[in-house]
Amino acid sequence: MIAACTPPLRSAAHRIAVVGAGYAGLAAASTLEHARQCVTVLEAGHRPGGRACTQQLSAELALELGATWFHGGVGDVAEKNPVFQHAVGAGLIDSRPEGETWWSSQFLLPGSSGPLNTAQQAAVTHTLAAWAAAVEAVPQDAGGTTADHLRVAWQQLLASGKVPVEQEALARRAWRWREHLQRAMDGCHSTADQSAQGLALYDEMPGGVHAALPAGMQAVAELLAGQLSDVRYGWEVRRITWGGPGGISIECKDGSRLEDLDAVIVTVSLGVLKAQHGTLFDPPLPADKVAAISSLRIGTVDKVFLEFENSSIADINETATAAVPPSEAALDSAAGPAAEAAAEPAGPAAAPASGSEATTADAVVSYAFLWSEPWEADGGVAAGQAASESQVPDWLKGVFSLRFGGPEVKLTGQAGGTAGGARGGVGPPARQRPAAELEDESTDEEFVPCAAAVRPTSYQAVAWVTGEAALAMEAASDEEVLNALRQLPTLFPQVQLPPGASWDSVKLHRSKWGTDPHFLGSYSYLGPGSTPADVAALAAPVCATAGQNAGAPVLLFAGEACHVKYIGTMHGAYMTGRQQAEVLLCALSPAGG
Ligand SMILES: Cc1cc2nc3c(=O)[nH]c(=O)nc-3n(C[C@H](O)[C@H](O)[C@H](O)COP(=O)(O)OP(=O)(O)OC[C@H]3O[C@@H](n4cnc5c(N)ncnc54)[C@H](O)[C@@H]3O)c2cc1C
Repeated sequence: MIAACTPPLRSAAHRIAVVGAGYAGLAAASTLEHARQCVTVLEAGHRPGGRACTQQLSAELALELGATWFHGGVGDVAEKNPVFQHAVGAGLIDSRPEGETWWSSQFLLPGSSGPLNTAQQAAVTHTLAAWAAAVEAVPQDAGGTTADHLRVAWQQLLASGKVPVEQEALARRAWRWREHLQRAMDGCHSTADQSAQGLALYDEMPGGVHAALPAGMQAVAELLAGQLSDVRYGWEVRRITWGGPGGISIECKDGSRLEDLDAVIVTVSLGVLKAQHGTLFDPPLPADKVAAISSLRIGTVDKVFLEFENSSIADINETATAAVPPSEAALDSAAGPAAEAAAEPAGPAAAPASGSEATTADAVVSYAFLWSEPWEADGGVAAGQAASESQVPDWLKGVFSLRFGGPEVKLTGQAGGTAGGARGGVGPPARQRPAAELEDESTDEEFVPCAAAVRPTSYQAVAWVTGEAALAMEAASDEEVLNALRQLPTLFPQVQLPPGASWDSVKLHRSKWGTDPHFLGSYSYLGPGSTPADVAALAAPVCATAGQNAGAPVLLFAGEACHVKYIGTMHGAYMTGRQQAEVLLCALSPAGG
């Protein structure tokens, strides 16, 4: 991927623009400035960080709308996560943060007022473990899509006898739930749209600790941007004119211009490149670059936050004992073998039913929704579901869990809060698990459904929604989204609110990564037929064809989509930014390297 150092650029005035102030752009700009180059960062938005976006709602509360976890490279490891390193350097996090903690989910069937019984829990556990094992087993030279491999794994699960016939419908739901989690982990639209090889090539950084940052992931970006001499916000680049005998020029949306540049490092998202490469570059990009842009994919992963009000103490006493009665419609909707099974008395391992006063201080409470109908293609298993939740907007069935508390919510004064981990919930710190964890699936904490009906204590909840459902959610108004979410406790009567909270008094905050024109997607992945060569082609510098710089790299590309192994991550983005800056510095050096 590193271009050979061909003829050096003009050695006198090196003026370089970096487009985008996400982690790729900031890493590129810092590297160049440290090498005493003259760098201007042009950022369309009004803050640094890009998809690391911490929304400060008040002095006490901030929400992580984008990146939440350092995925490895944390603590005493040889290869450090560079974003984590900056956070440590700035005193934002301990250099050896606690290891990951994760929470189990309460898996809920529509219309059911009791927890899964022992047999159901076992079926769900086996199903989720089978999925995880199948994903882990995909070889690095795999052909086909992830869904192709999962289809085989599903058949093997049924043949294994681990899921009795009477639990098969429930297992299908759990399989589908896991599909949603996979989408959230990998950013893929669906596993049928994801190259199995791409999935297998993704890797965690060594040092498997997943840590969140109490200050929020945008904080490190603010720090980096603050150290740069020329970052211009609100400069949305519309056209980059390159390839002529003179320097490169950039024109922005408001007509502002930068002229006579020696090189430009472009770090806009793959979504922006897909939508705009035709108009952004004059002359157009080379054909292999365009082919890579079109072959690689970027999916949508959104977070929908609910901020509940905590009413008076009197209200707390009243609501603490009130169970939410299941509506008849909801019970009807649970028709089918899985729902019948749900109506069985809970097994000995089962915990108190919904409405009990069980609460846990500071615990994360995660509800996982086993919808009876799929929203989209479901990882290779034919749907064939019983009727259902037809009253709700379709996209709501893409909401696969609702979690109260967790690392996306930053409360000032919160103790600890550096350890992340939502592996069985909705957050995806671990995209692939070490094989050792799979040896005994019965002790695989990650996927043991939690039987206890625990009442949340956090007043902030987050739901993740992916793919087409996320795009439909983005298209709906705030009121429509809130009204849809308000139906969850009717459909899933075990959903409880923290004491004193009410669905009538709740604020909505959400991301719109899929349609925000500065991103047009959440994170990238290899689509069907994409190969690592496409990533290399995307990342390859484009060289000048004429003038005194002919043969030298003048358009360089960085960003999360440019890293095969760490695709879709902050550290991947950062590394590509630094790497492309080094490529450029190599070309700028008088000896040409
Ligand atoms: C919901 C979500 C959860 C995630 N969770 C994690 C996680 O837990 N851990 C992790 O490591 N990663 C996570 N990621 C991925 C991570 O956030 C990204 O991979 C990374 O931040 C991308 O950085 P980047 O510099 O490549 O791109 P970006 O952050 O997108 O930066 C590109 C910048 O370019 C700007 N731009 C766009 N168009 C123009 C234009 N025309 N002119 C000027 N500027 C422009 C944009 O405004 C943006 O600031 C998550 C992402 C999302 C969306």
